[in-house]
Amino acid sequence: MCLIEIIQVVLIDQSERFVFKPLLYELLSGEVEAWEIAPQFSDLLANTDVRFFKDRVKCLYPCDHLGTNAPTAGTVHLESGLLIEYDWLVLAIGAEAKLDIVPGAADYALPFYTLEDAHRVDKKLRELERKNFGKDSAIRVAVVGCGYGGVELAATISERLKEKGIVQAINVEKTILSNAPAGNREAALKVLSSRKVQLILGYFVRCITKGVEPQTSDAEPKSIDSAADHSESVTLELQPAERGLQGQTIWADIVLWTIGSKPLLPQLEPSDKPYDIPLNARGQAETDETLRVKGHPRIFAVGDSSTLRDRNGKLLPATAQVAFQQADFAGWNLWAAINDRPLLPFRYQNLGEMMTLGRYDAAVSPSFTDGLTLEGFVGHTARKIAYLIRLPTDKHRVQVGISWLLKSTVDSVATIQTMLTKAQSGS
Ligand SMILES: Cc1cc2nc3c(=O)[nH]c(=O)nc-3n(C[C@H](O)[C@H](O)[C@H](O)COP(=O)(O)OP(=O)(O)OC[C@H]3O[C@@H](n4cnc5c(N)ncnc54)[C@H](O)[C@@H]3O)c2cc1C
Repeated sequence: MCLIEIIQVVLIDQSERFVFKPLLYELLSGEVEAWEIAPQFSDLLANTDVRFFKDRVKCLYPCDHLGTNAPTAGTVHLESGLLIEYDWLVLAIGAEAKLDIVPGAADYALPFYTLEDAHRVDKKLRELERKNFGKDSAIRVAVVGCGYGGVELAATISERLKEKGIVQAINVEKTILSNAPAGNREAALKVLSSRKVQLILGYFVRCITKGVEPQTSDAEPKSIDSAADHSESVTLELQPAERGLQGQTIWADIVLWTIGSKPLLPQLEPSDKPYDIPLNARGQAETDETLRVKGHPRIFAVGDSSTLRDRNGKLLPATAQVAFQQADFAGWNLWAAINDRPLLPFRYQNLGEMMTLGRYDAAVSPSFTDGLTLEGFVGHTARKIAYLIRLPTDKHRVQVGISWLLKSTVDSVATIQTMLTKAQSGS
């Protein structure tokens, strides 16, 4: 007699879309459309046996640490009231933006962390563009933080607004991208300076309040029509990180917050008993090197909601590159654990670092060649291809590949036409 074990895979996500976060900036530049970088789970999982539940996990009740007598390995409680019993669990719920760092940030700054955040920032920019259309003063954008997120936003928005905007980027360190490869930092500095982004370095934001810039008495009176509308402007109090510098105040029509993140796993703690999942101080699940949560043989954790050190004792960064590589190992190890095979230790391979610097610009520093940075259009093309390959499912990759190819053909034809028109008019 042959015993067939039926394995059912259930995917639970509070959103109906998978979101490829490294390409969220391109929604602001109009370079990609939402369906390309945020396809629906139902489309991605069509023709598979995976059952998708659009629901929010409210809390976790693991039992696998109680020994083999427990009837299930644990239960997941969903917001809809549904309880799902599992034999094996993979935790991959990521993190959220952290705005409670300084007073006023949660009220007056916009995070850029989710698809909804990107839509909100785009909507706000559109409103400002509409309000300030034809006016002679610029839209003021403050970007807080000059890590990858802040620099990519500053580059994208300064390119979008051109002379209609003033972008100021604030960083507590005296440089931008302090942990990035030097090539990426230099490429970014060149682009930001060419787009006149003002870098305010060595300062941290002390608080953000509502407030319009006071008019100086010698300022030229402007007509109502030509004065820009800054009625919703906010004030950022900046404090120097070192002695010897003076505090500053700046005003902005939109503040983008890119500092910090908060893992979501602590939110799944049951209210009626202490959490059984071992968490570090940030709230990430501690795993062993096979990606199993410590003390929980039936739970794997990957991505931003987990923490692991490499062989040199260095914490792995919370990046898509790590999450993507861990997903492969977790999948393999889950199969191995079910089939009583040895589990593989996760080994992170740093492939390099990439960043967008606008519609036709990027910086890519691969890890396998020391000192090489691909910049400009070459870097931009390399980054887009690398990300296209990492989008989920063959079908989706092909659809997005065709869409990007068509868009770049239209762009190229438009550029040639503009050049020909310029040449014919002799300008
Ligand atoms: C703007 C931006 C740009 C980035 N750019 C890069 C980059 O260029 N390179 C790079 O390597 N990394 C980049 N990152 C980091 C990278 O995106 C993350 O490290 C990666 O997405 C982590 O993957 P994850 O699966 O752990 O979490 P996520 O991708 O955040 O996925 C978590 C999922 O869990 C769901 N979820 C959360 N809570 C619940 C709940 N209670 N119930 C049900 N579902 C839930 C969410 O809806 C989401 O779909 C970027 C991040 C951002 C925000």
